Amino acid sequence: MLLGHPLIVRCPACGQEHRQTNLLSGNTFGGMFWSDGSSFAPMMPDTPYFSVCSTCGHFFCVKRCEQFESDDESVYELPSLEHPGRNDLSDALSRKLFEGKNEEIYLRTRFWWSMNKRPFQQEDTTGAEDDKAYRLNALALLELLNDADQHDLLIMAELHRNLKDFGKCLELLNRITEKRLEERRQQIEKACKSKISNTIRIEFNRL
Ligand SMILES: [Zn+2]
Repeated sequence: MLLGHPLIVRCPACGQEHRQTNLLSGNTFGGMFWSDGSSFAPMMPDTPYFSVCSTCGHFFCVKRCEQFESDDESVYELPSLEHPGRNDLSDALSRKLFEGKNEEIYLRTRFWWSMNKRPFQQEDTTGAEDDKAYRLNALALLELLNDADQHDLLIMAELHRNLKDFGKCLELLNRITEKRLEERRQQIEKACKSKISNTIRIEFNRL
């Protein structure tokens, strides 16, 4: 993992400065992966695309606000830039605080992830998918994704599995031909055939 000097990100509403990790390159070695596409990788920090100001609570897009590198030690005294919480995401979506389709997809994906219970081993994580907000968000996300794209197709299959539409999930999985998606596809298919609807952990290097 290669890091540059930390970035200072300034809240567009009140000017409060936040510190953000400046990732120049990373890798997913030693990472954990889940069927919804989320992951946790120590060498690939998940830097926020949207954040909430620690001082005034303003929700903002990090890429669209003032930011600069700092090699001053005092940068470490600044509050770190955090990902928005579940309520922030829900609020941002209902207030349409995004520009364009890709940003809406990002926010809906993050909202989906925030409600998924991601198992570390084999523990039971059922439940979240029955929530009304969960279902409405999944349906809205399905409308936004592009079934001509193989990766989107895998995410769409996973959403249908979450919604317990196992037939549609299998139908979409059968259209996925890209080799790089095969390990995820197979494990989602196995869960689907067992009528398991919740997020599962994906193990790689099985092929
Ligand atoms: Zn602020």
